[in-house]
Amino acid sequence: MTKALNVSDGDAGAAAPLITFEVVTLFPELFDGFLSASLLGRAVAGGLIAVERTNPRDFAPGKHRSVDDTPYGGGPGMILRVEPFAAALAHIEAQRGPARKILMSPQGALLDQQKVQALSRLGRIVLVCGRYEGFDERVGSVLCDEELSIGDYVLAGGELGALVVIEAVARLLPGVLGCGQSIEDESFSHGRLEYPQWTRPLTFQDRTVPAVLLSGNHQQIASWRRQEALRRTAARRPDLLARHPPDEAERALLEAQGESPPGLEKGAPKGEAKP
Ligand code: SAH
Repeated sequence: MTKALNVSDGDAGAAAPLITFEVVTLFPELFDGFLSASLLGRAVAGGLIAVERTNPRDFAPGKHRSVDDTPYGGGPGMILRVEPFAAALAHIEAQRGPARKILMSPQGALLDQQKVQALSRLGRIVLVCGRYEGFDERVGSVLCDEELSIGDYVLAGGELGALVVIEAVARLLPGVLGCGQSIEDESFSHGRLEYPQWTRPLTFQDRTVPAVLLSGNHQQIASWRRQEALRRTAARRPDLLARHPPDEAERALLEAQGESPPGLEKGAPKGEAKP
């Protein structure tokens, strides 16, 4: 009925996972590959996160275990019925305890890094995945705590959205990424995109790594990176600058670089300014 993925080490003394995701999905097998390789695979195998999968079809009534029906009022497609989801959620909470219940939906609040950070502080999260034409309205309004969208486009199902949430949240948990530093500096963590990065070779098709990065002067490198992060954010994502306004020093930098200060985004450049 449900399938746990954190069963690999069999260590009786193993600590409880930092977070448990409960996925409600008609296609539990879609998660197999993603949860068994790379970062998520290691986090699951190491017991840092647990992912349980529950199929609402197992809770649907009748011989055919039908989970969908035609819409009241007519129209195309099939709508997911409320009862199998209600029973699946009740089962999950009875078996493993209460959890924040999130409905994956293109009509939900847009997921961003701030939301990911908030979710990473919860111990148990249910991610309810839709299919077909979506859910009976009551799956969201009666059964769930909130609705979450991963972007302004429509997918065929909520499973990719659930995986996006799982991966974005899991990588913030201690021990999941090798190096804590990369969470600190990365895009969106301070309302800025990350500065550009290079590795070998020094020159590729006439493009050479900026000299400052070869200088060995760590203070200069840090300040160059701050500038580049700011310049890149102003050029590519003026909306982030408007939401996380620059301080005095950043304002001065922006003006020196000829970028519009935030709040005056009307004429904001569309492409990225050249250095
Ligand atoms: N008819 C619905 C879309 C249904 S898509 C509408 O117009 O709003 C089928 C399912 O895919 C949804 O129930 C949801 O679980 C998932 N889904 C589709 N797009 C999504 C998105 N952008 N974010 C999160 N989930 C999405």
